[in-house]
Amino acid sequence: MKAILAPALFGLAACTALAGQGSARPLRVVTLSTVLAEIAREVGGREAAVVNLVQPGVDPHTFNPSPAEIRTLIDADLVLASGLGIEGYLGRLVASVGTRGRVVAVGDALPAVIWMNRAGTGGERDPHWWNSVDNMLIASGLVSAELARARPESAGEFERNALAYGRRLSALKAWAAAEIAALPPARRQLVTSHDAFGYFARDYGFAVHSINGLSSESEADAKHLAGLIDLIRRERIRAVFAESSANPRLVANLIGETGVRLGGTLYADGLGPAGSGAESYEAMYRHNVLAIVGALAGP
Ligand SMILES: [Zn+2]
Repeated sequence: MKAILAPALFGLAACTALAGQGSARPLRVVTLSTVLAEIAREVGGREAAVVNLVQPGVDPHTFNPSPAEIRTLIDADLVLASGLGIEGYLGRLVASVGTRGRVVAVGDALPAVIWMNRAGTGGERDPHWWNSVDNMLIASGLVSAELARARPESAGEFERNALAYGRRLSALKAWAAAEIAALPPARRQLVTSHDAFGYFARDYGFAVHSINGLSSESEADAKHLAGLIDLIRRERIRAVFAESSANPRLVANLIGETGVRLGGTLYADGLGPAGSGAESYEAMYRHNVLAIVGALAGP
C-alpha cells in the first residue's frame, strides 16, 4: 500500500475491519512527531490512543525506528508522519506496514510547500511545515478526515474537536501577528542554527539566514560562515538564535567573530520536553515569538 497523500473525504470504501462494530477500543494512532502527537490527541480525543515515537529533544532528521518501534507502527490503525522527506525511512515503513494500517504523510498533503535551492543541492522541500500556524490548521483538518476514515461513526466528534483546537490556533496566530507587528520590517532577520523557520518567515516577512541547511545534519562550510559574518556586520543584525536540539558550536563561533548577541534558544524541530515551558504547540510557538521579538526589537 502506498502512503496516502490526499485526505479522503468519504472513507466508507476503506473502513477498517472494526468500523461499524461500535467504539469498543480507541483507535491506535502512532505519530512520528511531537506536533502530530498533539494534533492527534486534540482531534482524536477519547477515541484515539496516541503513541508518539519521536520524543521531544530527539532529532527528527536522524531518527530511525528500532525493531520494537516498527512493530508498534505495524500494529497501528493510523500512522501520522511529518512527510516532505524528513522521514528517510518512510518508504520502507510503508512496505512493512502493508495493508494492516494506513500511513499518512501529513506534510505531503499541504498546499504551498516551500522548495529550497541551496548551493550544492538540487531542489529540496522544506519539511518544517509546523512552524506556520496556517499549516497546523490545515493539518488538523487532514488528521480529522483520516480519523473519520478509520472510524466513520465518530466523524462528528473529530470535526468538533478539530474546530475547537483550530479556534485556539487562530487565536495564537492573531497574538503572534500583533507581537511581530511591533518589529520594523528591516529587523526581521533570523540567523538560526539550521534552516527550520522558512514557513514562519513566510508568514511574517522575515528573511532567514541559517548556518546549516534544511537538515540538522548538513554542516556549513567556511565560505558560508564568512558570508554570514559579513551579513551580520553589514545589516547590523542584533541577535542570532541557538536551537534546543542543535550543537551550539557554530552559533558561538558567529558570536565570537561579530559580537552579536545570543537571542535565545528556539524550538525548531518540534515541542520541548516536560518542564521546558514548551510542552504544547501554543507554548512552544509563544516561546519562539517572544524570543525573536524580544531579541530583535532591542536597541
Ligand atoms: Zn529541522
